[in-house]
Amino acid sequence: KLTVPYQSTKPINIIFNFPISTSALSIKSSSPRAAANSGKFTSLAPLKPYLLSEWQPILCGWICSAISVYSLSKIIPKVGKFSSLMNPPLDVLRLREECLVLGALFVVRLIGNYLQQALLWEAALNCVYKMRVYVFRKVLQRDLGFFEGGSGIAAGDVAYRITAEASDVADTVYSLLNTIVPSSLQLSAMAIQMLVISPVLSLLSALVIPLMGFMIGYLGEKLRDVSNKAQLAVASLSSYLNEILPSILFVKANNAESCESKRFQSLAFADLSATMGKKKLKAFIPQLVQAIYFGVLFTFCTGTLVVSKGSFDCSAMVSFVTSLVLLISPIQDAGKAYNELKQGEPAIQRLFNLTSFEPEETVNPNAVDLHCVAGEVKYYNVSFRYGDNGPLVLKNLDLHIKSGEIVALCGPSGGGKTTLVKLLLRLYDPLQGSVLIDGLDIRGIRLESLRRHVGLVSQDTTLFSGTVAENIGYRDRMTGIDMERVKLAARTASADEFIESLPLSYETNVGPRGSIFSGGQKQRIAIARALYQNPSILILDEATSALDSKSELLVRQALQRLMQNRTVLVIAHRLETVLMAERIFLLEDGCLREVPRSALLDGQNGSLGSLIAIARALYQNPSILI
Ligand code: ADP
Ligand code: MG
Repeated sequence: KLTVPYQSTKPINIIFNFPISTSALSIKSSSPRAAANSGKFTSLAPLKPYLLSEWQPILCGWICSAISVYSLSKIIPKVGKFSSLMNPPLDVLRLREECLVLGALFVVRLIGNYLQQALLWEAALNCVYKMRVYVFRKVLQRDLGFFEGGSGIAAGDVAYRITAEASDVADTVYSLLNTIVPSSLQLSAMAIQMLVISPVLSLLSALVIPLMGFMIGYLGEKLRDVSNKAQLAVASLSSYLNEILPSILFVKANNAESCESKRFQSLAFADLSATMGKKKLKAFIPQLVQAIYFGVLFTFCTGTLVVSKGSFDCSAMVSFVTSLVLLISPIQDAGKAYNELKQGEPAIQRLFNLTSFEPEETVNPNAVDLHCVAGEVKYYNVSFRYGDNGPLVLKNLDLHIKSGEIVALCGPSGGGKTTLVKLLLRLYDPLQGSVLIDGLDIRGIRLESLRRHVGLVSQDTTLFSGTVAENIGYRDRMTGIDMERVKLAARTASADEFIESLPLSYETNVGPRGSIFSGGQKQRIAIARALYQNPSILILDEATSALDSKSELLVRQALQRLMQNRTVLVIAHRLETVLMAERIFLLEDGCLREVPRSALLDGQNGSLGSLIAIARALYQNPSILI
């Protein structure tokens, strides 16, 4: 058995070896569901469970910051004392002693500072890691409608939210943690120092603080708006790239390079203006803080003159100035944290809005597991439409496929064939009526169990970058791929020959989206994948429509082997494929009609057009047929 190596996925402990429970990864925010009702998040509530799960590094980080601030508060009076010791006559012994104590305090301060930052970053990054894992898992649980455009969120946008925006959230979380305790501690310690030295001067200096708070608050709101705009602009840039780069062949074939680069330019320009606004505002805020800072110093200088009338103790003055300078930096930090918060809020909202929907499978406690499936499929009076107001794609449709039977479905494009398949895989639920497997409504079957027994080979074969074996044994990637079964499946699918001619045979990487293979080869790998899965019910959705005649023959032979001993629903455009079936149906305008097989056997040239024409004519049942 071959198991795919996965890297350790535990959150990281950089400093201490805290026991981290991976169960923290399965944190279930209660708030996303609440937000589903309110539409969007207005607070940082979704962060709460993640922060709580990281309480150990957070607490240690805060303790380190307390030690660091404590040593700082010891350093300041010493600095004052030190300056008075510099006056002649010099007491060298005393000076050396003070130097040593000061040095030791500095070392404690530096180590405390380092540990504080490292631990708080650890907590912030672990939080974001867990959020990403949670959000991605929720995204995968979303129903197909979300991915097929119903939500209005492009795949690139989802990718951007989970990557770049989640990184912004890490900055926000760090700033938050750093402000709540370390900055507040330093601020209070310095304020106490100043109050002890000179209460009057301290109060004078404090006069400017409300002004500073007001300005920062006002600018923070502005910053949140511009950040939101900038994030939206980058997100559309990223979704555009995600859409266009995989379609580069199409772009080139249509000579659309210059047109696409213009589209890119306009999106990049939108991003430029939005980001520029944000950066300029961000550059302005520290200048404002500096200006206020000078205001404080000015207050202090005039205050000194007024209060002391020149008789101010020199060492006290040095301590006061030092405290004042050290008081400004936590205020600046708090301002920065506030800005980060305002920038991070939209990112958090957008990230968690991805999760604020009901999962695909509504929990049905009575849902059963399918163990042994005979393979009888029944569509009973099924009607379906996409969205709430779309046209009816399927209308009161009835279809009964007996166990082990091969049924073909043909009809014009857009007739609803793939939709019928999606209902059987329960990617959507019917508007009315029901789909049954072995007489059991599929809504009563556990989703995972249902999809294990229904195999799908579709027109656009999906191969992932990874080895050939991983692609064929995709279902067992996590649990261990059985190489013997992979080889057998490849042989039955007539894929063994070209796989074995690859440099690393089954261990060759297939490249992004299987780019090293031709269409026919990809198709045979997809068939091998279905053979590996060995489902009781098999759906072939136009599995041969994009092939040339040589590979079609090979693929058709492979399909014939694949169809043995199971119930098959084959959707095809080609007469040869359709004729592999025992019964043939035409799906047109959401209605199903059976086409007598005998009518198709009389020397047709194999085009779908003629097939549909015959079916239509038969349905019309004319007296004279030309
Ligand atoms: P077929 O496979 O027969 O070509 P489909 O089942 O794919 O047809 O589509 C049937 C109809 O449903 C078409 O009119 C198509 O436009 C519409 N349709 C398919 N998928 C979606 C979707 N995700 N959202 C809205 N309409 C859809
Ligand atoms: Mg289709």
